[in-house]
Amino acid sequence: MHDHARFDTRAIHAGQEFDPTTGAVIPPVYLTSTYVQDGIGGLRGGYEYSRGGNPTRTALETQLAALEGGIVGLSFASGLAAEDALLRTILLPGDHVVIGNDVYGGTHRLIRRIFGAWGVKHTTVDTSDLDAVREAIELGTTKVLWVETPSNPLMKISDIAALAELGDEAGVLVVVDNTFASPALQQPIALGAGVVVHSTTKYLGGHSDVVGGGLVFASGRHELAEQVTFTQFAAGAVSSPFDAFLTSRGIKTLGVRMQRHSQNALAIARRLEEHAGIARVFYPGLESHPGHALAARQMSGFGGMLSIELAGGGEAARRFAESTTLFQLAESLGGVESLVNYPSEMTHASVKGTEAEVPESVVRLSVGIEDVDDLLADIDEALARL
Ligand SMILES: *Cc1c(COP(=O)(O)O)cnc(C)c1O
Repeated sequence: MHDHARFDTRAIHAGQEFDPTTGAVIPPVYLTSTYVQDGIGGLRGGYEYSRGGNPTRTALETQLAALEGGIVGLSFASGLAAEDALLRTILLPGDHVVIGNDVYGGTHRLIRRIFGAWGVKHTTVDTSDLDAVREAIELGTTKVLWVETPSNPLMKISDIAALAELGDEAGVLVVVDNTFASPALQQPIALGAGVVVHSTTKYLGGHSDVVGGGLVFASGRHELAEQVTFTQFAAGAVSSPFDAFLTSRGIKTLGVRMQRHSQNALAIARRLEEHAGIARVFYPGLESHPGHALAARQMSGFGGMLSIELAGGGEAARRFAESTTLFQLAESLGGVESLVNYPSEMTHASVKGTEAEVPESVVRLSVGIEDVDDLLADIDEALARL
């Protein structure tokens, strides 16, 4: 593969060379915990024990780095395991983190409860407000600025390039959780981010059949990449070979899936926007969205996630979430099948009563790649029951 291969070509070929011994087009899944040594210390290809390295995981890690335009990719057992490995490599008691005020609930919980108990302080802030971010940074103490854009579940858009510049000035590592957009629609490293985080459970895996996480490091972050690689090995939250294989397999169709997710979501957002029972539709592809212009500049598509605020409040929101049939009521997102989620009691229950709380009137949709007419019919039926 050429170094300058385009995105969809990299998604299919990076790290996926055919097997040299048999010619198998798809590299085998290396279900092995250990490797024979040719004499003591005589490793073949550097593999010694699968916590430290496994060829199937290496293939995925190569693919992840190629997709995000980074120098090193690392694959973990879950998105939160990836976040934990990164943060615990960087942070010491007394350090400070600035995080978006509507980041993924589990990220907020990890920083507040696990790192908080360990003496790490944090400030939540609206990362779409640059002045607020500048004010929240404590020079010398703030080590990480954690950005999620589009955010979850309110789809707020933050300016990655401007935040990266701000981080560089203040000596703060800018981390972007790129789970919602995926690298097919947004390239945070090209915009100046230091590290990209993924829950590969979502769009990268894409089929709701595997839990995983990833980190990708920008070219200026060689030393940090080495340190986190050591944490991955020493703390051990690696992805299994089979999970890595499923994720690699999903990634190959990421480009076409994201196009279809985006088309379907826009059609549904427009339908919802017309209905009197819906007070607001949060979708960056709509001209009415406050982040629309920035999203159009920063992303090459608007993605498959949208949220709505029901005019009838919490009760109407619950009724809507329990009325759809094709949109199945479940946590998670990013799969080929459509899902509906009630954040305040489901994905974001862990942040109830905190600054990251989600209003009870909000419902989140993960729009799949089914036929859009069937999805619209399902939405219409649920709206008719409001
Ligand atoms: C799901 C998710 C995570 C956490 O990933 P897991 O794979 O569930 O551990 C982090 N960030 C975002 C935006 C997510 O949607």
